[in-house]
Amino acid sequence: MANRYFSRRSSPVICICALLVALNGCSSAVESQQTLIENVSVVDPVSGLTQNQQVLIEDGKIAAVADTSQALTLNANAERFDAQNRYLIPGLWDMHVHFVYDPTLTNEMADLFLDYGVTSVRDTGGDIEQLVKLRDALPSPKPNIYISGPLLDGKFVVYDGSDPDRPPLGTGVPEPGAADAAVAALKEAGADFIKIYELVQPETYAALAAAARQRDMPIASHVPLMMTADSAGPMADSMEHLRNIELACASNWQELLAQRQQRIRNFTEGLGYALRAGLHSDQRIPAINNYDETRCNQVLDTLSSTIQVPTLRLNTVTHLKPFQREDWPAALAALPQATQFAWRARIDRLQQLMAIDPTFSKWSVFLIERLLARGVPIGAGTDTPIGLGIPGYSLHTELEFLVQGGMTPQQALYAATITPAEFFNMADTRGRLTKGMQADLVLLKDNPLTDIRHSRSVEAVMLAGEWVRK
Ligand SMILES: [Zn+2]
Repeated sequence: MANRYFSRRSSPVICICALLVALNGCSSAVESQQTLIENVSVVDPVSGLTQNQQVLIEDGKIAAVADTSQALTLNANAERFDAQNRYLIPGLWDMHVHFVYDPTLTNEMADLFLDYGVTSVRDTGGDIEQLVKLRDALPSPKPNIYISGPLLDGKFVVYDGSDPDRPPLGTGVPEPGAADAAVAALKEAGADFIKIYELVQPETYAALAAAARQRDMPIASHVPLMMTADSAGPMADSMEHLRNIELACASNWQELLAQRQQRIRNFTEGLGYALRAGLHSDQRIPAINNYDETRCNQVLDTLSSTIQVPTLRLNTVTHLKPFQREDWPAALAALPQATQFAWRARIDRLQQLMAIDPTFSKWSVFLIERLLARGVPIGAGTDTPIGLGIPGYSLHTELEFLVQGGMTPQQALYAATITPAEFFNMADTRGRLTKGMQADLVLLKDNPLTDIRHSRSVEAVMLAGEWVRK
């Protein structure tokens, strides 16, 4: 693991330049900050591997990617970094994280992400004030953090905070008339996108989506239980966990949906979490047993503009146990003592569970190939720290599962770089190793295209042109 290296030097050159710009434009005599990464193999998620390259970083951006034989003009003070036999990839994203889920990890997650080459994350649910404060208060360097604020739920709220094991990640939007004000308040508070949850009513779902569109906020969503993936999906920019697609893909989906809607209408008292858990456990496996490929193709064809974030790592956690991996003990040891202690108890419980049904886990991995076949975009996300997800580490596990599901290693890298940038409409400045892109970069010891497990071989990490791990 790369050593932590906190050098956020404020450059006097940049300060002087800023001053000159303020006066009458920056003189060309003031040199910009340059780093040249030499003799490196460039791995771009679109164009693949190009050997013997040099990558020039200037003022936080990629200024040139060129063959080693080409002469580049460098400042006298340019930093040169020999990366012979190394592989450079764009900084990785985790599209599904929760900073405020486990208080023992909240302040540690940003550093862990950088340790593992994760330079950008999407926080998909938590209290907005807490998240905005955290994002401001975390010391630099820290990954680029984009937040949704709370899970926007219905009259009943799944994460309402009534159980100490489940923090209050959600908030209720009980009727469509409340949607616009809810989204406006989130935008005002600093949210970058919204996240819609499972107990929302269909009219409210549409109202929330419209309110977000109006404010240029991307929409992440679960499939509301009153709806199906093909009715809710086209209104969202991303959908999480592949959850509830199984119902839409069942030959008897109408019958299952009608049962589900009736149960929700009849639910007048109790916990949102219990309502949701009951529906999932009663309907998920029967739906998968009635999988109908023709019907499923119709459903998936409605999702060609809706990124699916499968979180395979989470979906498979009960039967492909992360704690049986060889590299698990070392990764766990880097977590705070309190987290390790709590997780050991959870692992014990998981090991004692007899006969875990792997149907949904296997179906999730199976669906990757179907998504690819129908051209549905796929994004890499983990739900860390939920379900024993070690921040940063778990993203690499997710990449492995995406490849097991049928993606090439290059497609998996695309899912963790360009696809998330597309979600935020930032693909013109993030996600590739080409001129003009923000210089969020990861240097690997081994080639990730020959084996995606090599994405773990992180040797150095650059964030907006500065080395943050080396
Ligand atoms: Zn989540």
